[in-house]
Amino acid sequence: MRPLGWDNHTQYRQKKLGEMLVEASLINENQLQTALVKQQRSSKKIGEILINLGFTNEELVLNLLGKQLNAPYVKLAETEKIDNRIIGKVPENIAQNNLVLPLKMEGDTLWVAMSDPANQFLKNVLGLLTGYNIKSYIASPKELKQAISAYYSKEGRFKTGVESPQTHSYFLPLKQLGFTPRSLQLYEKYLEAQKGCILIIGPENSGKKTTVYASLKKLNFPDNDIVSVENKLDYHLDNVNQIEVSPEMDIKNTLEYVNQFNPNILAVENIQGVGAWNHLGRMAEKGNLVIGTITSDQTLADFLAGFVAERSDHYSLIEHLDLVAEQRLAKAVCPYCKGSIEISRKTAAAAGLKASGKQVTVYEGKGCKICNFTGTYGYTACYGILPITNKIKDMMMQKANISKFKKTINKEFKYELSEVLQEKLLRGQIPLEEYLLLTGQDFSRFKELKGLKLAEMYWSLFERSGSVNAYLEYRKKN
Ligand SMILES: [Zn+2]
Repeated sequence: MRPLGWDNHTQYRQKKLGEMLVEASLINENQLQTALVKQQRSSKKIGEILINLGFTNEELVLNLLGKQLNAPYVKLAETEKIDNRIIGKVPENIAQNNLVLPLKMEGDTLWVAMSDPANQFLKNVLGLLTGYNIKSYIASPKELKQAISAYYSKEGRFKTGVESPQTHSYFLPLKQLGFTPRSLQLYEKYLEAQKGCILIIGPENSGKKTTVYASLKKLNFPDNDIVSVENKLDYHLDNVNQIEVSPEMDIKNTLEYVNQFNPNILAVENIQGVGAWNHLGRMAEKGNLVIGTITSDQTLADFLAGFVAERSDHYSLIEHLDLVAEQRLAKAVCPYCKGSIEISRKTAAAAGLKASGKQVTVYEGKGCKICNFTGTYGYTACYGILPITNKIKDMMMQKANISKFKKTINKEFKYELSEVLQEKLLRGQIPLEEYLLLTGQDFSRFKELKGLKLAEMYWSLFERSGSVNAYLEYRKKN
C-alpha cells in the first residue's frame, strides 16, 4: 500500500530538494541534471536517485528535507528505547502502512517519526485517533520499517492497545470536535464573553465533557480563575482547579464551597437538583461565566419546557442563561474506504432530507483494514445551538403555553441539530445509519437501505428479533 496523501506536491517538493542540495553545495548542478534526466524514466524520487548515483547520502538528504518541512531528522537506530505506552498510541496497521512511529510524548503533544512529514492528512488522522497534537520528525524509510517491525512484532500486544478516540479526546481543541465552522464561531463568541451561563445537554457518552474541557482550554489565560466541578476527574487540566464530587461532599455542598472563592469561570458536570441550579444562577449573577452539562436523552426543546414548568425554582438561572447547546456523538465515515451511494428521492424525503434531483448522494465506508472492516473511524460531535433570546426568556418567566414555547424554540434555533446532522451526512462525514439513528427514525421504514454496510447488523438483528430494540441494545454495547 502506498503511504497516504502521496500527491503531486511530492514531485514539486522533490524538485525543490534537488535545488536545495545544489544551493547547499552538497551536489553540483551537473549532478542534479543527470538525476533529473534519470527521474524522467523512473518512478523513484529525486533524493533516492541522487543517493543511488552516489552523489549524496541519505542522511544529508533527510536533514535538508527535515529543515524544509520543519520536521527535525531523527536517526532511529540511535534513539533510546521507546516506551510501550507510547508505541501503543498508534495502531500497528497504521504504523506499518504509513511508515509512522510514535516516539515521545510532551504534555498534549505526541511526537512521531514519519517518512513523509508533509503528509498533513496522516497527521490529522493521527490527531483524531490519539487525541494528541501531532508533531513530526523525519526518518529514513528503511529505519522506520525496521523499527516498526521490531516494536510491533513483540507478541502483537499493541493491536488492542489503542483506546477509542472517544475516551481520549480530552486533548482535542474545540475546532476539532465537530462544530461546523459557523456554529463554532457562534459558540466561541459566547464563550469569550466570559459571562452568563452556557448549558450543554446530551445523552450519556455524547462527549459533553470533552466540549467543556476544550472550552476551558480556550479560556485558560493567567488572569482567569477557573474551577471545574466534576463527577470524576478524567484528565488533569493545567491551571484549572478541579474538584471531584463525592458522597461526603455532594454537588450542592461542593458548589457552596466553590462560591466562597468566586472563580470567574466555573464548569459543572451533570448539574442536578434545584440547589445546584440556583448556585449556578448566583455565580452568573456576579458576572462570572458558568458552563454546565446535563445528561439527558431529551431534546433541547423538551428540556427547556421542563424549566418553564418549574420556573420559580430557576429564576436566577433563567435570567442569566445565554446559550444552550445539544450534543450528540456520531460515528464518522472511515476516510480510507469512503464510497458514495445513491438513494432515491422518495427514501431521502422520507428520511427528512431536503433533496433536489432524482437521487441523493450519501456516503459510507466500504470496510478496510484500518477501520477493522466496520466502515467507520472515530467520532464526530454534532451540536444544535440555541442562543437564549429575550423572547425565549420572557416566555419561560411568564409560563408560556408549552406547545407555543416549543414552536418558538424551534424557530429561534441558530443551528438545529437535525440540520447539522443532515449537513454532515450530505458532506460524507457521517453515514446514513448514524443520521437515522440520531434523528430518531425507524430503520425498518427504509428497506432500500438494506444493502448498506452499516445497516447489515441492524437488519440481521431486526429480522431475528422483529424489534428495533435489539439493535439499540447492540449499539449501546458497541
Ligand atoms: Zn475503512
